[in-house]
Amino acid sequence: MPGAVAGRKKIGVLALQGDFEAHERALRRAGAEAVEVRSAADLDELDGLVMPGGESTTMWKLINEEHLVEPLREFGRRRPIFGTCAGAILLASEVANPPQPSLGLMDISIERNAYGRQLDSRIARLQPQALEGDLEAVFIRAPIIRRVGGDAKVLASYQGDPVLVEQGRHLVATFHPELTDDSRVHRIFLNKIP
Ligand code: GLN
Repeated sequence: MPGAVAGRKKIGVLALQGDFEAHERALRRAGAEAVEVRSAADLDELDGLVMPGGESTTMWKLINEEHLVEPLREFGRRRPIFGTCAGAILLASEVANPPQPSLGLMDISIERNAYGRQLDSRIARLQPQALEGDLEAVFIRAPIIRRVGGDAKVLASYQGDPVLVEQGRHLVATFHPELTDDSRVHRIFLNKIP
């Protein structure tokens, strides 16, 4: 198992832009080791990677500037990636409003800022199919997942739209599980790592 220290999973957090520090804290609360990723070399020895929320256009620009597009795609072919909000946009195969390039590691179509300006952010209570009990979900200028590929599994929905989806080794959330004290969503991700 790469990089694991005394059984702890070693998870990178893409730290180019956005709320990566909140993810580091959330991963530590869930029992993992968290390290910041800023270059391709930082991906060595990781068991998994989190792509945080933030601003996906800016993040994509920085990913290009740091020559991370192919290293991230290659990492995602071998190991789990968890994308939240902007991170989910970057993992999708198709991005709308406006269209922009992405890693294409998950077969989902996603529309940016899809709840509109008036409802920029909100806290919702979800009843996820995949979890016991309610889940508090923080949405901030969130995208909506408009299509999921055949083998994707919807783990939670909000107003009829998927908001937590897994496909193969990867997981995306359109909300911000790193902003609450509840570690269950991060644990779903950690459980994907053998
Ligand atoms: N609206 C942002 C985008 O399109 C995502 C918002 C977020 O990550 N909280 O990139």
